[in-house]
Amino acid sequence: MPDPVLEIKGLSAYYGALRAIRDIDLSIAAGECVCLIGPNGAGKTTLLKAISGVLERTEGEISYLGRAATHLTPRQRISSGLIHVPEGRLVFSTLSVADNLRMGGYAKRGADLGERIDKVFELFPRLRERRRQPAGNLSGGEQQMLAIGRALVAQPTLLMLDEPSMGLAPVIVAEIYREIRRLREMNVTVLLVEQNARLALEVADRAVVLGAGVVRRQGSCRDLSQDSDVRHMIFGD
Ligand code: ATP
Repeated sequence: MPDPVLEIKGLSAYYGALRAIRDIDLSIAAGECVCLIGPNGAGKTTLLKAISGVLERTEGEISYLGRAATHLTPRQRISSGLIHVPEGRLVFSTLSVADNLRMGGYAKRGADLGERIDKVFELFPRLRERRRQPAGNLSGGEQQMLAIGRALVAQPTLLMLDEPSMGLAPVIVAEIYREIRRLREMNVTVLLVEQNARLALEVADRAVVLGAGVVRRQGSCRDLSQDSDVRHMIFGD
C-alpha cells in the first residue's frame, strides 16, 4: 500500500454548538479516487471544508503527505496542493475564462503557468474556444469544467470535488466524469462528494458512506455497491 496522501483520525467539526461530523477516520492513498456518499445533511460537504481548513472549529488530526496539517491555514493547504472545488462552481463571473484559470496559478506560481493552462485546454477544449468570454456567460457545465480546470492549474496532489454533477444535464455530467476519470492518468488523488451515488460508485475505487455525521461504512466500490444495507441506505432498494 503506498503512503497515504491524507490521513484523518477522530475528526469532528462544529457549526456553533452543532457537531456536524463526528470521529471520522479516513485514509487516502496516492492515486486513489475515494467517494463520499450519503443522504442530504450527512456531513459530506462539512468533511471537505474541515479538510481544506475553512471550518475552524474542528477536533482530531489531519495529516497530509505525512505531516500534521491541522494547524495549517487554508492558504497554506492550497499552496501544498490540497485543492477544494466547492459546490456551486464558484467562478469569477466577470473575469474571462483565461483569467479565471490564471487565478488558479495564484496559489502556485511558476514560469510554466501557460503550459498548465494549455493542459487544461487539452482536457476541456470548450474552455479554449471560450477563453476570452466572461465566465459568467458560460453554461453550468462549462462553469463546472472551469472550476475543475482552475483547480488543476494549481497542480493538486489531492483534489476534492464537491458535487460536480449538481444541476447538470446527463450528457454534460458524462463529459465531466470522463475528465475526472482521466485525472487518474495524471496521478491526481481525488476525494469526490456526490449526491449521485451510482455515478460515484462507478468512478471511484473506494467509498465512504456517511450518515448523520458519522462513517457508516467504508470499502471498495465494488463491495459496497453489492451490499444490501448500503443499497438500502443509498438507493432505498
Ligand atoms: P448535502 O448533500 O445536502 O449538501 P451534506 O452531506 O454535504 O449534505 P453538510 O452540508 O455537510 O451535509 O451538512 C451537515 C450538517 O451540518 C447538516 O445538519 C447541516 O444542516 C449542517 N450545516 C451545514 N452547513 C451549516 C452552516 N453553515 N451552519 C450551520 N449548520 C450547517
